[in-house]
Amino acid sequence: MVRTQKLNTSTAIFMALFHVGAVAALFMFSWKAFFVALFLYWVAGSLGIGLAYHRLLTHRGFKCPKWFEYFITVCGTLALEGGPVFWVAVHRKHHQITDKPGDPHSPRDGGFWAHMGWIMSGESLHNKSEGLLPYVPDLRKDKFHMWISKYHYVPMIVLGLGLLAIGGWPMVMWGIFLRTVFLLHSTWFVNSATHMWGSKRFATDDDSRNLWWVAYLSFGEGWHNNHHAHPQSARHGLAWYEVDLNWYAIKLFSWLRLIWDIKLPKLRSARIQPVATDSPREQALAAAYSGD
Ligand SMILES: [Zn+2]
Ligand SMILES: [Zn+2]
Repeated sequence: MVRTQKLNTSTAIFMALFHVGAVAALFMFSWKAFFVALFLYWVAGSLGIGLAYHRLLTHRGFKCPKWFEYFITVCGTLALEGGPVFWVAVHRKHHQITDKPGDPHSPRDGGFWAHMGWIMSGESLHNKSEGLLPYVPDLRKDKFHMWISKYHYVPMIVLGLGLLAIGGWPMVMWGIFLRTVFLLHSTWFVNSATHMWGSKRFATDDDSRNLWWVAYLSFGEGWHNNHHAHPQSARHGLAWYEVDLNWYAIKLFSWLRLIWDIKLPKLRSARIQPVATDSPREQALAAAYSGD
């Protein structure tokens, strides 16, 4: 079934403008602007989306001081993916009914829908959407998270003005427009590509896959079959060759005593069965984290 809904015109125009800005940035290249954009890509994508929104706020994969939680949450707002209440609620719903009717973004409703169609449809979920609130009882008790969810665009505006003051328009085009569009698609690929292509290590009852190139673009979020099999685990890349920069950052912060009580994949978790494979390396890996 392909889901088509009325277009949310304002979101669509906003997205189109950001894409035009991203293309325009290519004509204003400078190495300084490039490296500033790369750094901000990591700040928003890894610290913000990977660590804060996903592995901490959605799945509670580790503990950290409140000030650190709030700081990385602000980094998350720089991804232009909405505030934590919206993001976390949508993602918890995705885990609850993955690839089943009602999943906010499943490729079973069409690949384009899962990638960006769902964001731009009239059905698109917003911060104030009543239907989302039951998914975030924890965040609703937190005044900061409610406040930043309402004003999630403010840090982005402050950053944009800062970049304009420091490096002029080339810095804004690279650090805001191109960087944001690139990161949006990287995140969206986790919803679209890793539910369509790649390999399955665990026999989860959904279409989640491990897909290396999405993992590289998204700091490790592409090991998505591992993640759906072990949602609470703060570590997504389970083998040494499954590069997971978000996990390396979590380890680094734990050495600095900023992160503790890290959840890891449950060994021999009975619910999860390995997928049959001829590869001895895969058999050993899957067996270590699967049910008997
Ligand atoms: Zn998923
Ligand atoms: Zn998740």
